[in-house]
Amino acid sequence: MNKTKSSKKKNSSKSRLLSALVIVILLAAALFVVSDAPFIKGVRDSLMQKLGYESVDQGEGTGDGSETVKPAGKGNSIEDISSLGTDALPEYNGDHYLQVNGNMPEFPDDVYDRASLVNDNGVLSTKGSKAGKIDTKLLAPYEYYGSLDNLGRCTEAYGCLGEETMPAEGQDRGDISSVRPSGWAKAQNWERCHLIAWALSAENANPSNLITGTHYLNYDGMRPLEEEVEHYIWNTGNHVLYYSKPWFSGDELVARGVQMVARSVEDNGKGISFNVYCFNVTPNAEIDYTTGIVTTEEQAKQDARVYIINTRSGVFHYPSCDGVKEMSEHNKKEVTATRKELTDQGYTPCGSCEP
Ligand SMILES: [Zn+2]
Repeated sequence: MNKTKSSKKKNSSKSRLLSALVIVILLAAALFVVSDAPFIKGVRDSLMQKLGYESVDQGEGTGDGSETVKPAGKGNSIEDISSLGTDALPEYNGDHYLQVNGNMPEFPDDVYDRASLVNDNGVLSTKGSKAGKIDTKLLAPYEYYGSLDNLGRCTEAYGCLGEETMPAEGQDRGDISSVRPSGWAKAQNWERCHLIAWALSAENANPSNLITGTHYLNYDGMRPLEEEVEHYIWNTGNHVLYYSKPWFSGDELVARGVQMVARSVEDNGKGISFNVYCFNVTPNAEIDYTTGIVTTEEQAKQDARVYIINTRSGVFHYPSCDGVKEMSEHNKKEVTATRKELTDQGYTPCGSCEP
């Protein structure tokens, strides 16, 4: 009896101790979860990472944990290029590119399909995997290049890019000078501009992948984004869905711009995510997008064109200048000449229209 009693007593004091311990542990756990103290937060984040959870801080994607991939694009955003139609493509406003669709990547169904991916409202899974699960073994890296259209223009290029599609280490670039993209004109400083960069695709003289582009488009517009994708793939070994499309106005042969869309696969767009339209322009130059003839500001001033001379003052104007409207009819003289011919004859350029 005694034995039982005493053991009962022992048991109840033991259980009191146990419940106190549980309460302390629960309190500590609660503090651990909610605390914002840097030390606790640091321990918590590293524990979460070890357990396979993403960082608690949402928003900024870190592809490899080292560098934050900034959202691409600056300046204005356009909702959707296709809704503007090819006669109303965005006008260059000084930025290298515009964001499309709020910079959110969207792809034609085929882009996912060829990669063996299912897109369910923005959540990707490999075909045959559970929803939201990417099994790299089931993923199908590829590149696709659309055929030229009936005007010989590039149409689109896309793929699921990864180390499999990139050039091998030490592989040299091939010669692409044999390709003459639509709108190519000699001696206009055009560059053969890849829809999918060589560094991502190892594609050389593929006519479906090369357009007539300005240095500004090639190096200032597209290249930083291409490098972002390239570094992300090297750093993570992950894959990136990629879509590149030149936009032509009407029947023009030189593209007005290139849309670039990309989204990383394994981390569901955390590392790489953009949708932009890069301008095929050269600031301070006029481009004839039908002939491929580029006229710089300097050249424009050298070429012969129509000017209006005020014969009384000796000042010459562009015909559109307000000074011409105010000029009395009998002082007006229309000439076709170069700027230099007029200044050589002693005429002075108008300070307002600056011909
Ligand atoms: Zn004027």
